[in-house]
Amino acid sequence: MMGEEYFEGFSSREESKTMPRNLAKLEEIVKNCTLCTLHKTRTNAVFGKGNFNSDLMIIGEAPGRQEDLKGEPFIGKSGKLLTTMLQKILLLSREELYITNIVKCRPPNNRDPLKEEIETCKNYLLKEIEIVNPKIIATMGRIAFQALLNESTPISKARGKLFYFNGIKVVPLYHPSYLLRNPSKIAETEQDLIFIKELL
Ligand code: SF4
Repeated sequence: MMGEEYFEGFSSREESKTMPRNLAKLEEIVKNCTLCTLHKTRTNAVFGKGNFNSDLMIIGEAPGRQEDLKGEPFIGKSGKLLTTMLQKILLLSREELYITNIVKCRPPNNRDPLKEEIETCKNYLLKEIEIVNPKIIATMGRIAFQALLNESTPISKARGKLFYFNGIKVVPLYHPSYLLRNPSKIAETEQDLIFIKELL
């Protein structure tokens, strides 16, 4: 299991705002991680990407096929939809935000990540959140929302509401891959993004 020794040398939250090398160090650890069985089937571990000084952090579930192949989060079809919506509603490019996933390696055949995979990998996410220290976290989809907040509320009931994680505002959104299958829900997600814009 991952212990504190993995994070030795990281600075405090205050210092880390001006020390992106902490994030680079964490990325290096993640890229070489073998702590759960997902490392056996991945092509690349996919670390978070974007502006580490951003007020907004977006957290998805896990890399898909494209992300696994290229080693970047949200670059497939759902990533394109996400990028379009962020630009349209928040007037922000992806480079202006920080985007990451609960689980950094692709589950085979895009199955849901297992509880033990989430629990093992979540430590990396917690460190990312500490370093980036966003004002708002937007979770995408059921798994990201429930795993971050240890919640069981269905995403259909959680969306549109405000939650908190260690004092950081959390706004749950539908996952863009769900929106691709259910375009009638895009309007609700646009409302949720307007809510985030107001909070920012
Ligand atoms: Fe390590 Fe997370 Fe990848 Fe598992 S999913 S091998 S814990 S980086």
